[in-house]
Formats: sequence, structure tokens, C-alpha cells
Amino acid sequence: MFRRLAVAALALIWSIPVFAQASKTIVIRAGRLIDGKSDRPISNALIEVENGKIVSVTPGGTPPAGAEMIDLSHATVLPGFVDAHTHILLDADVTEQEYDDQLLKESIPYRAILAARNARIALDHGFTVLRDLETEGAMYADVDVKAAINRGEVPGPHLFVATRALAPTGTYPLLGFSWELNLPHGVQVVDGVESARLAVREQVMHGADWIKYYSDHGYYFTPDGVLHSHVNFRDDEARAIIEEAHRLGHKVATHAIGSDGIAQALRVGADSIEHGTGFTDEELDEAVKNGVYWCPTVTAIEYVAPGRGGTWKPMVAAERTAFQKALQKHIKIVLGTDAGAFAWTKVNEALEFKYYVEYGMKPMDAIRSATVVPAEMLGWSDRIGSIEAGKLADIVAVSGDPLSDISVLQNVGFVMKEGVVYKNELTSSPKGSL
Ligand SMILES: [Zn+2]
Repeated sequence: MFRRLAVAALALIWSIPVFAQASKTIVIRAGRLIDGKSDRPISNALIEVENGKIVSVTPGGTPPAGAEMIDLSHATVLPGFVDAHTHILLDADVTEQEYDDQLLKESIPYRAILAARNARIALDHGFTVLRDLETEGAMYADVDVKAAINRGEVPGPHLFVATRALAPTGTYPLLGFSWELNLPHGVQVVDGVESARLAVREQVMHGADWIKYYSDHGYYFTPDGVLHSHVNFRDDEARAIIEEAHRLGHKVATHAIGSDGIAQALRVGADSIEHGTGFTDEELDEAVKNGVYWCPTVTAIEYVAPGRGGTWKPMVAAERTAFQKALQKHIKIVLGTDAGAFAWTKVNEALEFKYYVEYGMKPMDAIRSATVVPAEMLGWSDRIGSIEAGKLADIVAVSGDPLSDISVLQNVGFVMKEGVVYKNELTSSPKGSL
């Protein structure tokens, strides 16, 4: 155990790039550029990067004298990906036991160390932005990991964090233990309108970018095939959470799996629906009308279903059906995986792209679901989501063509974040970047 940990720690230290590289001019020659905006790839594009930002993108183009050249002429270059639903402080949650053990047997500092590792894994996989949707009992440790990344102490993606999330008494683990025990909670437990408002204020005070609450639990199918659920909060409580978050300038993500939970989330004005397995036609129409984003998290649902059994098994097909209906109705889909529900070390989150394409999404739209669409949801359209002048130089590359084989996105070989190269396996002479 100790030996493994020591080796992992050394690997992490050795693989941290030289952060000071960001200020000079870097030029990337992209064999094929998917810029996140254009309908078609651009051949042989030249991307000029300075001070962590993209200053120009030119088809053909001649590099300026003295610039460091990164030759990706045999690769496809894309904007860095956004995973809009992760849990860096969780590491596998297929069974109750796995979840409970993390809260009961691992300290928050230990989990924060793993979270830093998980952030690095996400970056290695090409995810330059994560919306991390709650710490699962690890309090505000996501804010700390974000601060360490932003200060250059550890490598990782840009993080949007939700801190503790909210649910009412008795609806979220830890549950099922003796009433004599005083146990940690996976969320901040709140009951009543004023407690909900106070909790939102506390979370914002401690650094929450987004607020998350759990709309439902206890999922079950009725004979008509609709996935139902027990709704957690009264409408006035859920509305108070959203009103308070919005009043303070923050958006709200809602865990809603069954149609009842989704209905309430839409009724009270949530900004994004997480999971959304039980979406009905009417609810999809409502979400489209209100501009609500849907984050499907297919990877996690597919991954946990066999181990959890019961209702989770038919939920896989329900998710697929909902996704296919959503495509027809043009709901705004943001790619999100629920990484942490599966172990970060076992599954590459880019598998989510493959599910979307298998479920009927065009490959270019799947790429957009992880670039321009979440950029808009996060309010960062001016910074990320596309490769164009003025945006942050968050750039990834793969061998092969993701428009003909989306699975190549699971093998990202080049990662740049804000002009700093964190990974380069695609060119033999990156001139000092690695
Ligand atoms: Zn989640």
C-alpha cells in the first residue's frame, strides 16, 4: 500500500511540466482542426498562442520568427473538453459499501489527495474543465483543490465546484445505521425554506460556484414504462434554494432521475438536470422551452447498473430512450459522466462521447456537447469551448479522426491548458515543453 502510494506520488511530481512556459509565443501546426464552431474541420491550421491565450487561427499560415513550434500536423486538434458532472472527491460508488467506506474510513485530507490525483487524470484525458458536482461528505475540499490548481501547486483542469450539495433529512446517505450513531452526511442536510436559504449562503461564502441539490430518490417503474421517483423537497424549499442561488449570482444543478424529480426541477427553475433518466416527452418540451441543460451521465449509469441491479438495470435502456427523444427535440445536452461513481483510475471519461454517438448523436454534436455548449452553460463562452482568437489556449489533440471514429477521443495524446503543455505524446520535438 505504502509502496504503491510512494510510486504514484513520485510519478505525479515528475510529470508536472514547467509552468513558466506560458508567456512565450507558441505556434501549433494542426493537421486537422475541429475548432468547436465550424461545421467542418479546417485543414493545416496554424494556432498562435501567447500568454496563455489564443491570438490567431489561420488556415495555412506561416509561423512568426522565433516562436516555439509544436508539430501536430499528423493529428486532429480540438478545444479542451468539459466534463460537466464529476466528483473528484469520490472514487467508486457502485455499492453502498464502497460509498460508506469512503465517508467512514477515509479522512477528508486523504480524499483530497486522491482528488488532486483525479484532477490530474481528467486533465491527462483532455478534460481542461470540470464542473464538479459535490464532495460527497468531504465538505469544502473541492474549493481547496481548485485553489491549489489555480495557484499552480498541482496540475488540473479549471474547476467549477458545488461544495456540499443539499438534500432534506433522511433522503441521502449515510443511511441505515444505528440511530445511536452520529454519522457524517454525504450532503448538507436542510429542511425548510430558511434553512435552505442559509445553506446556499454558507456554500457560496465558502466558495461554491454552482449550487446542487438532490431533487429525488427511490426510483421505480410503473407498468406504462415511466420511471418515477420520490421527490425530496417541497416545492417552496426547492424554489428557495434556486431563488437564493440566483439572487447571489449562481446557477443550480439538480440531481433528478425519475420523472417526478425532473418535473419539480423544471417547475422551480433549475438550470441543469443531472441524469434525467425518466424524462417524459412533455418534460423534454418544457426543458427546451426554458433553455434548461441536460447532463445525461451515461457512462456512470451503464457502469453502476450491473452492480446495483434492481431498477438500475432497466434504467440503462430508459436513459437511451430519453436521449434519443432529446436529440429529436434539440434539448441542450452537456457531456457529463458522473466520474467518481466509477473509479477514476478504471474508466476514461471520454467514453461518454462514444455512448452519445452510439445513441444517435452526430460526432460533431458530441464534440460540441463537451465544448461550446457547456461553455455557454458555465458562462465562460468568452474563455473556452472553441479554438479562436481571444479564448484561453485550452487545446487537445488525438491521432486519427474523431468524426469517423469517436472512440479516438479516449486516447488524447496532447493537452495544453492556458498555454502550458501538460502532455505531449504526439510530436517528437516539442522543444522543451516536456
Ligand atoms: Zn453525481
